[in-house]
Parts: sequence; structure tokens; C-alpha cells
Amino acid sequence: TGETQEWLQQYVDDWVSFYRKHTNDGSVASYIPILQEADPNDLGITIIGKNGVSVRSGDTHRPFTLQSISKAITFIVACMERGVSYMLNRVDVEPTGEAFNSIMHLEMKPVKKPLNPFNNAGAITVTSSLPGETSAERLEPVFQLLERMLGYRPRLNVDVYESERDSSTRNRAIGYYLLEMDFLESDLDVTLETYFKQCSIDVTIDDLARLGMVLANDGMDPKTGGEIIPRQVARIAKVLMLTCGMYDASGKFATYVGIPAKSGVSGGILAAVPPRVRDETMPFTDGCGIGVYGPALGEKGNSIAGIRLLRHIATQWDLSIF
Ligand code: GLN
Repeated sequence: TGETQEWLQQYVDDWVSFYRKHTNDGSVASYIPILQEADPNDLGITIIGKNGVSVRSGDTHRPFTLQSISKAITFIVACMERGVSYMLNRVDVEPTGEAFNSIMHLEMKPVKKPLNPFNNAGAITVTSSLPGETSAERLEPVFQLLERMLGYRPRLNVDVYESERDSSTRNRAIGYYLLEMDFLESDLDVTLETYFKQCSIDVTIDDLARLGMVLANDGMDPKTGGEIIPRQVARIAKVLMLTCGMYDASGKFATYVGIPAKSGVSGGILAAVPPRVRDETMPFTDGCGIGVYGPALGEKGNSIAGIRLLRHIATQWDLSIF
């Protein structure tokens, strides 16, 4: 009803202004120079429910790049293009407990494959499995899947791509290591170019909320019921989001928030809240997608105010899947 909608809006507005002060506890990513240009005090959230109810608050219109959130998308696309069992043979599904760009676990023997698709080693391996010769060809199914979920074709942010490419010593090191281990399925340079480009796709929190809604809805279009992502692939993506989606803070996020989510160093968080029926008076019981943007990051590389805002809302609205 209109009254509920008004109450939800007021509630979310209040907590966005409250947590905006917490952006001062973090800082924007600086290892990719252009990301430093983000406004550290930005904070915004979009929540889209299955039945069309939605709430938007704070800095909702800022475009930002997917960064690590793209790892979830390319994993989904690779599973759809190559098959789930094929991909699970190439990359494991175990959390590392290490930073996203760690190469530590690659040296621990016996290593048969990268530990999961959401750290850089695993994500670069997944990207090497995308079919196609050029980076444009490999990203085509990624753009197509995004377009099906968002209703428009997002664009590549060339400035971010170039900045990322020109400050990529660690990712090149990881790439060479993967090459040496024989984990890569295609040319290293094309694979890295594709990886930097997938990280540099511009989105808004509305877009993230839409993606989250499709995942929450087991891969089906919330409006038409048509399949966008096969159910099994959507399920595995959510498992990985819960266990590995927030880097080495995934355990804490699962404990205090309890929602499958994927973050990126530009400050975005994509969250998928499945339907739950514990308490009918709570908002969004039939599931929702949430997009958060707050470029000031905490020490693990997740949006600091974004996580606190999500934690607050998830606690108040009983959004945890557990
Ligand atoms: N482009 C970033 C990198 O690979 C993505 C990392 C992230 O968002 N954590 O370094």
C-alpha cells in the first residue's frame, strides 16, 4: 500500500543519512588511480521487490564500474556457455580466507585448480574459458546477459579500463602464475584484457538491484517468469556469493547480514534476498534484489558504510537466509 511504501522510504532515507557519516571510517580504493576520483561520502541503496515495490535512497544515480561484481557475471556466463560440470572442473568452490588478489593458495600443494571463481586467480581462469578470439567476442555473451536482465546494454568505461590495465602488475603476476600452472584455457594477454574490461563495465545501483532480483528469483525474470539464468547456475552463484562474495570478510558478512552478496572495489554491492516466510509483516517477504554503492572501503575492500547499512536493514527486516 501507499502507506507502507511511504514508511519504507522514510525508514531507508533515515538510515542512509545515518550511515553516510560512517563513510569517514573508510577510504576509496587507490591501487587503480582512477578509482580515487570517487566521492568518499557517497552512499546509496536501491531495493527492488518481486511484486514491483521498490525503494531508492541516497546517491542512486552515480554510475560506477562492476569491478569484482563482474566475477559473478562471468562465472554465470561461463557456466551457461561451457556447462556447469566443465567449469567446476576448472575452478573449485572453496573460500580462501585470503585477500581477493592473493596468490598464496596457488602455491599450496597439491593445487589442481584455483580455489574459487571470486578471487582474482579463479576469476581470471574463468575468463580464460569464455569462448571467442578477441576480448570483444568473449564479452559479447556477458553484455547480452546483462542486457536481458537490465533492459539496456551497459557500456564499457574506457577510462577505468585503461587505468586498470596500466596498473595491473599484481593481476599480470597472477596471470603468469596461472599460465605456468597450465590453468588458463586461452591466450594470457587476451584473457587479461577481457578481465580488465569486465571489471570496467558501468552500472548503477538500480542495475545491481535488478541483477539481485533475478538471482533471488532463481534465475527467472521477475516480470515474465521466463528463464534468464538456469536455476542450477543461479543456485551455485548464490552459494559462491555467500561463501566467497565479500572476499575474506565473507564469514562475518554471512554471520551479521546472512544474504548472498558480491562486492567490488569501486564500492558496489550486489545482494540477492530469496523469498522467506517467517514473518508476513516484514517487508519484501517474496524476495528482493539490493544494490548498494559507497566507495569508501573498509580494510577488506568492501564498502564500509554499505555493509553497515545492509547489516542494519537485514537485522530489522529479518532478511537473513538462516
Ligand atoms: N579490477 C579489480 C582487480 O582485479 C577487481 C578487484 C575487486 O573489485 N576486488 O584488481
